[in-house]
Amino acid sequence: AASDVYKRQMKAYTYVKPGFAQFIDVDKPVVRKPTDAIVRMVKTTICGTDLHIIKGDVPACKSGTILGHEGIGIVEEVGDSVTNFKKGDKVLISCVCACGKCYYCKKGIYAHCEDEGGWIFGHLIDGTQAEYLRVPHADNTLYHTPSDLSDEALVMLSDILPTAYEIGVLKGKVEPGCTVAIVGSGPIGLASLLTAQFYSPSKIIMVDIDENRLDTAMAFGATDKVNSANAEKAVQAIFDLTDGRGVDVAIEAVGIPDSFDLCQKVIAVDGTIANCGVHGKPVEFELDRLWIRNINVTTGLVSTNTTPQLLKALESHKIEPEKLVTHYFKLSEIEEAFKVFGQAANHHAIKVIIENDLSPVQ
Ligand code: ZN
Ligand code: ZN
Repeated sequence: AASDVYKRQMKAYTYVKPGFAQFIDVDKPVVRKPTDAIVRMVKTTICGTDLHIIKGDVPACKSGTILGHEGIGIVEEVGDSVTNFKKGDKVLISCVCACGKCYYCKKGIYAHCEDEGGWIFGHLIDGTQAEYLRVPHADNTLYHTPSDLSDEALVMLSDILPTAYEIGVLKGKVEPGCTVAIVGSGPIGLASLLTAQFYSPSKIIMVDIDENRLDTAMAFGATDKVNSANAEKAVQAIFDLTDGRGVDVAIEAVGIPDSFDLCQKVIAVDGTIANCGVHGKPVEFELDRLWIRNINVTTGLVSTNTTPQLLKALESHKIEPEKLVTHYFKLSEIEEAFKVFGQAANHHAIKVIIENDLSPVQ
C-alpha cells in the first residue's frame, strides 16, 4: 500500500563528501539487534562538530552517514531485550551510546564503549538529523524525560551540558571561591559557564573575540569578560583580574592552537587546563616554562554518565539551558538551519532547534 511505501522512506541530512551534505530520501531505520530501539525524532539541533564533519575534518565519517547526535524523540519500536522503554515513551537521546557491559562501560567511561558505543551517532552510524533514528543499546543510551522540563532544555542535555560539565567543570576541578577563565563563548563555553555556577567560583572570566558573545556570557552569569582579539592584552587583563596570579581553572572551548596557548599563559600555579575543544592541529606546549608550576592538563570525550545528575539539577531550575536556544527551524528547513548555524556569529546564533514536521504522529 502507498502508506507502507511512505513509512519505509524518510528524509535525512547526510554527509556526502568534504564541503557537501544533502537532505535526501533514505531508508527508514529498522531494529537490527534485540537491544535496539527506533525513535521518531521530535527535536534535534546542530553541533559545531557537524560543521567539522562537513568540512572533512573527521575522516572516520563515511559518505552517506546521517548527521546529528543530539535530540529528543518518541519511541516507536523496541527490540526484544529492551526492558526500560516501550512504544510511545518520550526520550532524551544521549550523544554517547553505551552497552553497559564492556571493559570501559564497567569503568564508567561510556565515551569509549567497545560494543557499538561511544560517540557514534552522526559519526560512525546514522544520526539524529532525520525523521527516525536507530538507537543501539537503548536501555543505556536513552533517558526518560521529567515532564516539567522544556524540550529545549532537554535537547541541551544530549551533548553540550554533559560535555561542558564533565570535560570542563569536573575535570577542571572548579570549586567554591576559585577563579575560572573560559576561553570561547560558543555553545560549549556558555554551557561550561552555566554548569560552573553549581560550584560558586569567585570569578568566571569569559574570553572571546566576539563582543556580542561576550555580552551574552555576561547575561548568563559571567563575572568578567575579556576580548582576546589582542592576545597579549587579554593575558594581561586576566592577570589584573586575579591578583597577578592567573586563574585556577582554564577551560579551553574553541579547539585551535591560539586558544590553548591563551590557557597555558593564564594558568595559575597548581591550576588545571581542561581542554574541551576539538583540535585539528598540534599545539605548542610550553613545558619548559610550565614544568615547575604544578599545573594539570586534562582532555576527554564526554561519557554522559552525569546525565541523571544533570536532569535532577535542571529540575531545580538553578540553571536555564533553554536560554541557549536562539533560532527555530522545521526539519524540512534543515538546509537553511545549517546556513544560519554555519555563520553563527553573524546571526547571533548559539543553538538552533530543528523540529520534525515530516513524520506522522503514530
Ligand atoms: Zn556535539
Ligand atoms: Zn560498552
